[in-house]
Amino acid sequence: MVATTKIRQDYLEKLAQLIKIPSVSAKKTGLKEASELIGSFFKELKADQVIIDDQYEFPLVLAQFKATKDNAKTLLIYNHYDVQPAEPFDLWHSDPWILTERDNKFFGRGIDDDKGNLLARLTALAEYLKENNHSLPVNIDFVVEGSEETASRGLANYLKKHAQFLKNDLVIWESGGYNNKGQQEIGGGTKGIVTFDLKAKTAGRDLHSSFAPVIDSAAWQLVAAINSLRNSDGTIAIKGVYDTVRKPSEREQELVNQYSTIDEHLLVDSFQLTAPLLNSQTKTELLKALYFSPALNIEGIQSGYQEDGVKTVLPAEATAKLEIRLVPDQDPHDIFQKVVDHLKNNHFDNVQAEYTLGETPYRSDLSAPEIQRVIKTDKQIYGNDISLLPTTPGTGPMAYFYNNFKSPIAAIGIGYSDSADHAPDENVRIKDYFDHVDFTKELIKSYE
Ligand SMILES: [Zn+2]
Repeated sequence: MVATTKIRQDYLEKLAQLIKIPSVSAKKTGLKEASELIGSFFKELKADQVIIDDQYEFPLVLAQFKATKDNAKTLLIYNHYDVQPAEPFDLWHSDPWILTERDNKFFGRGIDDDKGNLLARLTALAEYLKENNHSLPVNIDFVVEGSEETASRGLANYLKKHAQFLKNDLVIWESGGYNNKGQQEIGGGTKGIVTFDLKAKTAGRDLHSSFAPVIDSAAWQLVAAINSLRNSDGTIAIKGVYDTVRKPSEREQELVNQYSTIDEHLLVDSFQLTAPLLNSQTKTELLKALYFSPALNIEGIQSGYQEDGVKTVLPAEATAKLEIRLVPDQDPHDIFQKVVDHLKNNHFDNVQAEYTLGETPYRSDLSAPEIQRVIKTDKQIYGNDISLLPTTPGTGPMAYFYNNFKSPIAAIGIGYSDSADHAPDENVRIKDYFDHVDFTKELIKSYE
């Protein structure tokens, strides 16, 4: 494989070893094996401390490399060793569990999300240590979790437990990369989420639909309840939901206007949309909704008869899965309580809500001095045309870190817009992989 130094070659072999382990958190396979392999990588690099903590369900790997100079700052690098399932296998052009090189790209499950990012960073650290007599100008802590793909279960507890040990000045996030305009993107936040089930039950069993003139069905009750949660313009109709929504600062809105690559045409064309957009008046309004506003989504609805032909039935039960993407300073449990109160106050007594998952939002305007260090280093490696986004429209566990450390977070990594995370043929461009090695080395150097 293409690697310019012996160290880079060795670490590609380590990457292949790690990709070979199907560490799928959804199936709880290979987690112990992957965490132990990563622990051994840290030990081989002579980390001052390596901890594999398995107190909670998904083992966490921690490593600490101490700086040789006094009063050094601390850099915390966050990654995860778990991956999404690789199925359906027949859509892959090479074995997902074998690191494969093809068309100047690396393929394999987890190559971008997130094993490749971790190994690129370890490669940089190994090279830096070798070239500098094993001395570091900055303390470097690694946190490698095993449940990122399944809502980071256990992570909040682990971080709380090790908060003192992991105190830091800057967090480098697990992933990132090039946007579809070819700009290196630095991300400063993630939305939060609360997911919940709604269940309606209106009778002891399904009924003959001839009773419909006098008996209401679970399906109608559920549809009415769901419909009451949202206004026709897409805003949420639940009382109090917007009370804690933090308005974007001028800088945050400007960054999104300048750097987001999403606009009306892109959405309509690439998704072949046939329904009108909810926020299509101006691009600013569209972006404001996408990046800075909460939204209610129906993930799925089920009730009654859905097979071929006709069944004249009046369903006794109906269920739906819903989610609300959250923005600072909304709290998942508080928002869920508002859903429960809404159902009660609007007399949907037959509809029960059940909390399933929650994650807190986090956003930053990327103006912190330590983020400026990242931006400067980024420009050195990737040139001046980089992108700065205060948050993604997606969800991640950034708030868990911010709540413990109050240090700035920068998401940057080896991916690009066709990396196909979570999908068949997940890949990164080989050049991007080694550019990230160079970036990480440069970042360490910036503390000299
Ligand atoms: Zn992922």
